[in-house]
Amino acid sequence: MSPPTSRQGLATNLQAAADSYQRAHVIEHCAVCAKPCCRLDTHVLELNWKQVKVFWQLDESRAAFDRRLASGKGPEEIRAGDGLYFAHRKVCPAYDEAQHCCRVYDQAIKPTGCSDYPVYGDGNALIADLRCEAVDIDELAAWVARALGPAFRVTQSADRDFPFLVTLAVKRRGGDPKSRAGRR
Ligand code: SF4
Ligand code: SF4
Repeated sequence: MSPPTSRQGLATNLQAAADSYQRAHVIEHCAVCAKPCCRLDTHVLELNWKQVKVFWQLDESRAAFDRRLASGKGPEEIRAGDGLYFAHRKVCPAYDEAQHCCRVYDQAIKPTGCSDYPVYGDGNALIADLRCEAVDIDELAAWVARALGPAFRVTQSADRDFPFLVTLAVKRRGGDPKSRAGRR
């Protein structure tokens, strides 16, 4: 990977490093994971209406489903809010427990959050969720440092309220030459 030359380039390269780490260290582990995130016992799955309709195999209209949900007769694991739906505390209907895999793995219907998890980009940083047992934060930090090259340094900090969320912030050693020039 060539060294990034702009903020956008850095974010792109960081996301590429996150994706390659997941391919190398996370995806294969899902088959033997002791606490699969897809059981939704600790994770909340964010879904749009189309995903809810397909996953729960609904044949009613959205308005009818929303009315059913509001009256307490909908799937108890689903909550609605801000035009989206949130599933929690029951195994995701798309999860194949026998094979330990996602039935919609390569399909467009798969929620974006599932593809990003457990390492995702946030500007000039990566966020890693250590609830995923396949993530080794030191290994990931070294992976990112190797991908970006010696011009960058990577620092770790855990979220104060949710310490299993660790940010890997990336800074150019000696500061950003463009921002230094801008202050002159
Ligand atoms: S927690 Fe991590 S290893 Fe386990 S199923 Fe989820 S992504 Fe895969
Ligand atoms: S859609 Fe697939 S990856 Fe996402 S929670 Fe369900 S089974 Fe897991």
